[in-house]
Amino acid sequence: MSEHYEKVKVQFEQMKTLAPDAPAPTNLASSGRAESSSGGSVLPRNRSKSRGKETNTTSNPTSVKLNPDKPRRVNRATTEHMLQIKGTGKILRDKTEPNGSKEEEQENHKSPSGKEEQIRAMHTRRSVTVDTSKAKTSLEALKLSIRQLKWKEFPMGRRTACDIYWHGVSFHDNENIVSGQVNKFPGMIEMLRKINLSRAVRTMQEVFPEEYNFYPRSWILPEEYQLFSTQIRLLKDNDSTLKPTFIVKPDSGSQGDGIYLIRDPADLRVFSGSQIKQAVVQEYIQKPLLIDKLKFDIRLYVLVRSLEPLEIYIAKEGLTRFCTEPYQEPSQKNLNHVFMHLTNYSLNIHSGNFVHSDSCSTGSKRTFSSVLYRLASKGVDIKKVWSDIIALVIKTVIALVPELKVYYQADIPPGKPGPTCFQILGFDILLMKNLKPVLLEVNANPSMRIEHEQEISPGVFEYVPSPVDEEVKVGVIRDTLRLMDPAQRKPHISNLQGGAPEDTIVVEAVPDEKAGLVRSLPSLCLKQVFPKYMKQFNYLRIVERIADIFLRFLGVKGTMKLGPTGFRTFIRNCKLSNSSFTMASVDILYIDITRRWAGMVPDSREAGEAFKVS
Ligand code: ADP
Repeated sequence: MSEHYEKVKVQFEQMKTLAPDAPAPTNLASSGRAESSSGGSVLPRNRSKSRGKETNTTSNPTSVKLNPDKPRRVNRATTEHMLQIKGTGKILRDKTEPNGSKEEEQENHKSPSGKEEQIRAMHTRRSVTVDTSKAKTSLEALKLSIRQLKWKEFPMGRRTACDIYWHGVSFHDNENIVSGQVNKFPGMIEMLRKINLSRAVRTMQEVFPEEYNFYPRSWILPEEYQLFSTQIRLLKDNDSTLKPTFIVKPDSGSQGDGIYLIRDPADLRVFSGSQIKQAVVQEYIQKPLLIDKLKFDIRLYVLVRSLEPLEIYIAKEGLTRFCTEPYQEPSQKNLNHVFMHLTNYSLNIHSGNFVHSDSCSTGSKRTFSSVLYRLASKGVDIKKVWSDIIALVIKTVIALVPELKVYYQADIPPGKPGPTCFQILGFDILLMKNLKPVLLEVNANPSMRIEHEQEISPGVFEYVPSPVDEEVKVGVIRDTLRLMDPAQRKPHISNLQGGAPEDTIVVEAVPDEKAGLVRSLPSLCLKQVFPKYMKQFNYLRIVERIADIFLRFLGVKGTMKLGPTGFRTFIRNCKLSNSSFTMASVDILYIDITRRWAGMVPDSREAGEAFKVS
């Protein structure tokens, strides 16, 4: 027995370091397999034609043709700091800031050449500055991370620019940033609201149904209420033994708020007072994988380091959140047992059965690696699990990118001074009994708290440190900062110009030792998955190319919508008008399309055609 565990432990350790690095490409490419019956997927899906051959958007002449004018700066490369380090012979000197912190100042200095100079630059380069004044609940973990990196924190903000701005909620937490890097993308909160995420994934499901079957079938309320009712009625009429369950989630809800299960469309609570509720109703996964008879979900941290070129990293360590009541498949009797069906920490913490533990492998919140270890010991192929999860993450980000680019250009149009962006996302994933990962939702602002509330005596609560949260979250923030270190960013000139072949793209960070970073730090917990696995997934980026065309016709006006003039330019440039399709007809067509889409865009303060693909 113990020998067996030793063997598993060794295997597991190997996998832990290998897994996010090396998903078998064949797994990734084919992970869009049909759902197994044991997974509890009860509803038939649209099956349209699957993908054709893989396309290489970077080197594909068509894509170059579609995008011929100039490299759009969706994430601008930060070259200034590179220059400081690479060769101007500038040295750095301390200066006191008005807020009492010390700041280093550059001074031109005679340049010794080559290696000597580089070594000196490494040792004398100024600390990276981080504005933490808007960090809110991530402040504690952020402070620890900055301390570990020996960087400089500006808790009250700073008169001059910082290298990095850490926002607790949104890109707009501070409107006055004109340089540096901000840890939020414009539009990410909007894109990840439940309805918009469902729409974005559905667009992809319509083109690539097999590849996007990791997201439960969903209907958007109120607009698809009739469709939902009709489809379920038909389904039950066809097979009376079917007893599907659905989970209803309010659009803007979080932490399980307002969520409930139903078995019949008639049970939908459509109104909130006199208002119709915006919500997503979703197929409920009835057969989740259980550990200790409990349902659990996985919180994985994903860094979108840049949109153009697309760079995605996944944290090797995540959290698992356990229910506090043994799981039973849904029945009319147990539908409202939230501690059985919902894994939210914020709900289960109120259950008498919630177990706080200082160990990462027991209790109601555990590390993902401890769960994988447990599964590996039972013979589960955890490398395959990882590889499926990586595929799910990449595909989801690919679904979000097109509209994110539109938001980005509206907020930071090329030519306008502004920061570049990156963002840590929280992916909530459920493993089905057959080990297939299912995407539940993506959080734009995953909790980065490293303490939890504890009732120390009846009615008296106190925040106490949570070792599990600290281990995972500090690593994620610290390593995100390391990857965003301006001295480590390489300009992706060749890639931005859209002409370089895939395999010449340089995206790996300079190793810490070379960059002169704190040497005692552990190796990065964030693993690059894109562009690393670009070849397997590039064929899915078709909507992104449509967004690129849309953006091109939108121009640089800082707007989200295509106006009548842009539409005329589009028609003209594509040589679509002729004697029977005159510019007058083009205008009529524009009005017609705008009317049809009006219902799709809740916020139509601005006139014009929004980017919505369907
Ligand atoms: P919230 O943002 O309110 O946390 P989620 O979409 O994460 O909303 O759902 C809350 C919880 O409900 C999840 O953590 C999970 O336990 C459960 N859940 C959500 N969707 C499904 C589903 N389709 N099938 C089974 N369980 C689900």
